[in-house]
Amino acid sequence: MEANYNPFGKDRLVEAYNVRFLDPFVAVRASDTFVVTSARHRITKIMNRKPYRLSPALLTILLLFGASQSLGQGPNSAISFTVSMPKPWTHLLEVEMRVQVPANLNLPNETNVIMPVWTPGSYLIREFERNVQDFSADAGGRPLDWTKTSKNTWQIRTGGARQWRVFYRVYANEFSVRTNELNADHAFWNNAALLMYPEGWISKPATLTVVAPPGWKVATGLPEVNAGVPKTFRAENFDILYDSPVECGNFRQIDFRVRGVPHRIVIDGEGNYDPDRMRRDVQKIVETEVALFGQIPYHDYTFILHLRGGGGIEHLNSTSLGFSRNGFANENGWRNFYGLVAHEFFHLWNVKRIRPDALGPFDYTKENYTRSLWVAEGITSYYGDLMVRRAGLTSEKDYLDGLANSIQSLQNTPGRLEMSAEEASFNAWIKEYRPDENSVNSQISYYDKGELLGLLLDLEIRRRTNNARSLDDVMRYLYHEFYEKNRNYAPEDFQKACEVMAGSSLDDFFKRYVRGRDELNYNAALTAAGLELRTGAAGDSAQGERPYLGANLTQNADRLVVSSVRSGTPAYEQGLNANDQIVALNGVRVNRDLFEGLIGAKHPGDVIHLTLFRNDDLRTLDIKLGVRDAPYKIVQSSPATDEQKRIYQSWVNGR
Ligand SMILES: [Zn+2]
Repeated sequence: MEANYNPFGKDRLVEAYNVRFLDPFVAVRASDTFVVTSARHRITKIMNRKPYRLSPALLTILLLFGASQSLGQGPNSAISFTVSMPKPWTHLLEVEMRVQVPANLNLPNETNVIMPVWTPGSYLIREFERNVQDFSADAGGRPLDWTKTSKNTWQIRTGGARQWRVFYRVYANEFSVRTNELNADHAFWNNAALLMYPEGWISKPATLTVVAPPGWKVATGLPEVNAGVPKTFRAENFDILYDSPVECGNFRQIDFRVRGVPHRIVIDGEGNYDPDRMRRDVQKIVETEVALFGQIPYHDYTFILHLRGGGGIEHLNSTSLGFSRNGFANENGWRNFYGLVAHEFFHLWNVKRIRPDALGPFDYTKENYTRSLWVAEGITSYYGDLMVRRAGLTSEKDYLDGLANSIQSLQNTPGRLEMSAEEASFNAWIKEYRPDENSVNSQISYYDKGELLGLLLDLEIRRRTNNARSLDDVMRYLYHEFYEKNRNYAPEDFQKACEVMAGSSLDDFFKRYVRGRDELNYNAALTAAGLELRTGAAGDSAQGERPYLGANLTQNADRLVVSSVRSGTPAYEQGLNANDQIVALNGVRVNRDLFEGLIGAKHPGDVIHLTLFRNDDLRTLDIKLGVRDAPYKIVQSSPATDEQKRIYQSWVNGR
């Protein structure tokens, strides 16, 4: 953490650096916390009188004084970035960083500028510096010498210059919600993957000016400087700057308001969506989640939606989403879209403000470890689907079917007995984003298990309190007790919050299911709402039980390849390996569809004869098929008591 580090040594900046912990989008709270020197105090007063009407002369004075503490008051940053894209088709974003050292600070001979190696929300070292080229630095037109001292650190001999400048280009041709893409059609970038920071300046404000091709609009969650400079935005510190992706192009925009607060959906690309339905239903999701927390902690919110790819990443007052352009063809597609929107939007509370220990302020140079991603992601997944249900956008049956499907998926993951929810969280950096053929057997996803832990905790708290309390109360408690008190929570804080609401100890629950690897007891939880989980072998009267192999297959062009083999299954126990290329089944050449059709026509106990390549060797393998599970179902256990009915209604319908 660099919050109290003064890059210039001798001179002491008297600032309330802990403002980084606060929410920039609630200006009152932020400005309340400021402690300033007398000279700066005067400047702040001036700016408070005329927040957005600064004359160029006054602006210069402010810059010279480095009046960085007047939050939300104008383009007064000592660090200003300009991002331009003169040849979009080359995928090169051009970055100019201008640094103005405040007059009251000593001038160093050398300054390090650092490129983040990851971006919050995506827990993998991505080495963004690998895309940097054409780096240079100068002061007043005089080139400055520099040298790289680590993979992502450029040491510049600034030689006591008060103003200096860095220029570089970033190759931006990797489309995802967490990387950068520039082409002839649009630009999308994450600032952590584009903008460097001078070492020690990470708690300082910065401005970002976007120079876009003619006709391109700019959308970001950052507020506009609004002092006569078009397309210039400000961030109170680099955590906020890095938490505000930018979309630039000819996007479509859908606007709506919730409780008077503006929201917009910025859409890049064509798709088969109905814009009126999208506006109406996304608004319902926002209203439902806002109702749960009871307040809106931002001034405006931007959904950046790319109709390509998939997935999303959360930010302070925005999110970037990827969804198939043809994904709105049927109700199932819309449900998937609602789930994505509801998950990412819920994050604005859970993880962006209700923050686990290590997740903010961030260290952008290395892994930031936490054992609580199962809360940050898993419980967000739980609420994502639940909020869609409570918004009335899915049926109760669809919601329960979804839960049953999640349960079956975890129960079909042998790795659930090898790794706890806390271990999965801690190991995210080397596991979650780097799956291999052994992942299913050695690990779980904190998304999947966390979602089900959310379900179990919610119903357990409701059961113990006769529905007087729920996980909803836990989330509100964390918001008030941690976010509003400027604290991050530790794993034991989350447990305590659950216990406060449950009114009794949950240590056994957390020991067995969160820190430990015990099988989850779904029915013990579901019975609180008058429900039960049905499992068992698949079958019907005509065919009897269905056969089971236990291998996942991928069709790579004309090759049918085993991608993974679940431990304990017939395929695993009888010698099929990941990466085996299946050539024939019972002497017949097969592709994936044919293979699955032929297996489906067999019976448990039948022996299949496989011909396969393992590396370059042709070989045969006989496997005796097992019994396939039926799809799990969550059904009513009859007859439900009044209390069970109350819990069910309150949980599933929010009333
Ligand atoms: Zn998430």
